[in-house]
Amino acid sequence: MQITELRIAGFKSFVDPQDLPVQPGLTGIVGPNGCGKSNLLEALRWAMGASSARAMRGGEMDDLIFSGSAGRPARETAEVTLILDNSNRTAPPEFNGSDTLEIVRRIRRGAGTSYKLNGRTVRGKDITLLFADASTGANSPALVRQGQISELIGSKPQNRRRILEEAAGIAGLNTRRHEAELK
Ligand code: ATP
Ligand code: MG
Repeated sequence: MQITELRIAGFKSFVDPQDLPVQPGLTGIVGPNGCGKSNLLEALRWAMGASSARAMRGGEMDDLIFSGSAGRPARETAEVTLILDNSNRTAPPEFNGSDTLEIVRRIRRGAGTSYKLNGRTVRGKDITLLFADASTGANSPALVRQGQISELIGSKPQNRRRILEEAAGIAGLNTRRHEAELK
């Protein structure tokens, strides 16, 4: 699976819809302080199922919606779409019917968040599992936030274990075990 496009609308500082193709190889995002570089990475993590507002640098999830600026009113919804190339069929078997996967996550002010996978409504857990089985996701150690290294150094052993488990690719199994135990 490979991310080939990120589409953002109404998310944090990205008020107007933006389609950002992701080319193979290395991509650099450059710009002055406060231009939205970290917001882009947050959009990516959010669409992959990030569930805590704190991880998104906000007090609550509604803080992800464009809150207005000089001359531009606040928005009521935010939407992030991830397009994944699955032509090598590395997505888990239940998603393997199509060459392209389209994940859409939406939030409406005061009304919470919803996900669609190829047009079908799914749970956040389904999206988390899709990425966990591919050894990636919103909490992947491959996505390093500003200040995260010092957080890691100061964190509890259980947290470090979680990070190691994600790196080892068994986070998906743990999520499935947890789900099975709840049933
Ligand atoms: P740095 O180089 O300092 O790390 P950056 O390019 O990573 O900067 P971001 O942190 O991505 O910048 O963007 C911060 C900007 O996003 C701020 O100007 C902030 O006001 C704006 N912002 C954050 N949340 C919202 C929101 N809900 N609505 C509108 N603007 C927002
Ligand atoms: Mg930043």
